[in-house]
Amino acid sequence: MNLKHILWPDVSEKEWNNWQWQLKNRLSGKEGLKRLGKTLGADVTGPLKAIKTYKWAATPYYLSLIKSKDVLRDPVGKQVIPSPKETEAPSLPLASSDPLREKEYSPIKGLIHRYRDRVVILATSLCASYCRHCNRKRQWARPECITISREALGEIRDYLLLKPHVREVLVSGGDPLLLPLEKLEFILEALRTISTIKVLRLGTRVPVTLPMRVTDELCRLLKRHRPIWINTHFNHPNEITKETKSAIERMQLAGIPVSNQSVLLRGVNDDYDILRSLFCNLQEIMVRPYYLFQCDMVKGTSHFWVPLEMGIEIMERMWAHVGGMCVPNFVVDLPDGGGKVRLLPSHLLESDGKEAVFSTFEKRLIKVRLSHA
Ligand SMILES: *Cc1c(COP(=O)(O)O)cnc(C)c1O
Ligand code: SF4
Repeated sequence: MNLKHILWPDVSEKEWNNWQWQLKNRLSGKEGLKRLGKTLGADVTGPLKAIKTYKWAATPYYLSLIKSKDVLRDPVGKQVIPSPKETEAPSLPLASSDPLREKEYSPIKGLIHRYRDRVVILATSLCASYCRHCNRKRQWARPECITISREALGEIRDYLLLKPHVREVLVSGGDPLLLPLEKLEFILEALRTISTIKVLRLGTRVPVTLPMRVTDELCRLLKRHRPIWINTHFNHPNEITKETKSAIERMQLAGIPVSNQSVLLRGVNDDYDILRSLFCNLQEIMVRPYYLFQCDMVKGTSHFWVPLEMGIEIMERMWAHVGGMCVPNFVVDLPDGGGKVRLLPSHLLESDGKEAVFSTFEKRLIKVRLSHA
């Protein structure tokens, strides 16, 4: 199935590759869902119910990656088409709209400060496509955080000037690469004038959902504010296309390293072979797999949750059989605002100070006499 040809048969290549055209022609709201349903002959009653609580929008480009006619079974479709399960009750008592307690860790508006040496700025609440598994779903409906104001940014700057131990700022959202370039430049400039801030990091899904946004002009802007690291968010090998490859390459040629954080999602990528392909394909385009997250226990995402043991099992196989540059850290961001923890298998089975027993990647036991004993 090719949704591009079905839904936008007359679009020219030039329009398709224009990010403004992509944004203007997003499918969204009731109208968009009905159009999708009609085109595919699918029942969209469930999705229509879900968007009463959680909004919906998707770029034509990202929708065109859906290959299965049964869109709610497709790995891209599942990430972007609303599911009635988002608003169903059963597992809701476990879920919270803000399990990471980001509000509590927000000393001033638009800033989250949980770890001593790094902070997060929420620069905008806009995204090119709204991921159904997003852990900041709670923000989608709040018009006041559409784009961070100059005043709020001024306050953030004052805060950071008093906290010289903060050395890294993550600009996140929403998606900061959707900001008008003047606004993005203003934010990066403001941060760059703080001498204690050494590194900037941008969290963005634009390379995946709207790769044409990565224009030469945007890359020049980023280049002027290095060191900047980009962290993007690929979840499935089907998301790696010639468009995404070219967007990533433009950023890399501007001297911006790109790494990736994935989320382990039921029915999307909760499978060893899929994740292995994803991580290896990312390494082939020189994107370093950085984190694989256990899906946060956020309200409206419970249909994506995968048992923790499954993630660990997949990762153990990965550590044993795949080159280290392809293997991300498997991370749980603990509820109750506990912060991130890495889950690693231990290969040190026992040690009494004189002798240690290791298990190899092939589960062979090796005894090592400790030299100092
Ligand atoms: C995830 C996160 C960071 C970044 O953590 P890294 O482990 O450096 O990727 C920083 N601040 C907050 C509040 C976070 O949730
Ligand atoms: S791009 Fe990021 S912030 Fe935006 S909806 Fe997706 S996961 Fe959430």
